[in-house]
Amino acid sequence: MATKYQSLRGTKDILPEDSRTWRYVEGKISDIFARFGYQEIRTPIFEMTELFVRSIGASTDIVNKEMYTFPDKKGRSLTLRPEGTAPVVRAYIQNQLYQKDEVLKLYYKGPFFRYERPQAGRERQFHQFGVEVLGASSPAIDAEIIYLGCFILKSLGLDNAKLLLGSVGCSDCRPAYEKLIVSTLKESTSKLCDDCQKRYKTNPLRMLDCKNEDCKKQLKKIPSFAGSLCDDCKKYLNETEELLKLLEVSYTISPHLVRGLDYYTRTTFEFVYSGLGAQSTVIGGGRYNNLIKEFGGPSVSACGFAGGMERLISVLKNEGKIPSLSDGLDVFIAQIPANTETAGKGDECFKTAFKLLQEIRCFKISADMDYRNGSLKSQFRKANKLKASYVIVIGEDEIKKGIVKLKDMKTGNEENIKLDEATSKLKEKF
Ligand SMILES: [Zn+2]
Ligand SMILES: [Zn+2]
Repeated sequence: MATKYQSLRGTKDILPEDSRTWRYVEGKISDIFARFGYQEIRTPIFEMTELFVRSIGASTDIVNKEMYTFPDKKGRSLTLRPEGTAPVVRAYIQNQLYQKDEVLKLYYKGPFFRYERPQAGRERQFHQFGVEVLGASSPAIDAEIIYLGCFILKSLGLDNAKLLLGSVGCSDCRPAYEKLIVSTLKESTSKLCDDCQKRYKTNPLRMLDCKNEDCKKQLKKIPSFAGSLCDDCKKYLNETEELLKLLEVSYTISPHLVRGLDYYTRTTFEFVYSGLGAQSTVIGGGRYNNLIKEFGGPSVSACGFAGGMERLISVLKNEGKIPSLSDGLDVFIAQIPANTETAGKGDECFKTAFKLLQEIRCFKISADMDYRNGSLKSQFRKANKLKASYVIVIGEDEIKKGIVKLKDMKTGNEENIKLDEATSKLKEKF
């Protein structure tokens, strides 16, 4: 049916059938975060535009093309958050969280916004979960958050995600690598896309993000970043690898893993899943050693990752890894006759049912009834639809005797119980 109002392109309603899956996945992830000692942080949906431009980088695709930026009534430029790290770093500094803990382990989840061409697993309002470990530089942190990503995927039943590991070096060794990129592509700049021709001059590392097939062919000529790392960065990568081996996490070194963000230093990683169709990144992250200081905070390093809920759920569905999730109701109350029109007008049956319904709920037992004038048959159909474990039938004759009928929907057994003992009887069953 054509409706007057439609949801916007790139946004989606998560309907009850699906929200059950979302709660299952979010619940699993939150439990694991707690087990690894992470605390939740919730930051606002919008921030000052400059926060994202300065952190993500002015020559990145996110800042150039994908941000939802708008002026507020006072003309200030605001942006709907396109990613989670910059807001967490802003909150870390603003609330001086660095004073409380040497190493702070935070996680977040929620909606993010990017103006992209919507496609499978990629919406304009999308949802991410992520972690940030702020306050220290140690390969143990990098290894642990990679292990954490691996642990989450395995706990959800995804054993085949491939881990790509890289390093984007530091301010000492990156300039030499950028020079190497420029000299490698010197003769072939004309074969690059317009964006890469600009990036070639302003920010050569960003060319490595390009999805253009012609560019990709040229980019293959560029040697791996690993070969240009300084001694400290090389050592850091080796130590991280050693710890991953200790934890039996298998990985592949990726030569050009720069991850579309300017703030990364040293470690970068991605978990990619190649199920049906194209390969997709389900979790990605890295280390950022300069961002906190650049934002006016103390000189401490940090490391984090983010995972995409839409992609993760679509992979889980494709792989058949969503268990059957039953939100079954404990008790359904049926009444004969069911007549809500006379409700409140002396219909004893309805009033008894309506009162009992609320009493049952007080004991943490889920309960519901039909509010329409349905036949007993249609009420049982509804009870089945709601996967009710028990049905209580209240009829006029029974009320006079002070009894109700209790039916066990699994076994089909029926028994008459005293109305005033109904809640205590049910309490025994749940
Ligand atoms: Zn370095
Ligand atoms: Zn390109």
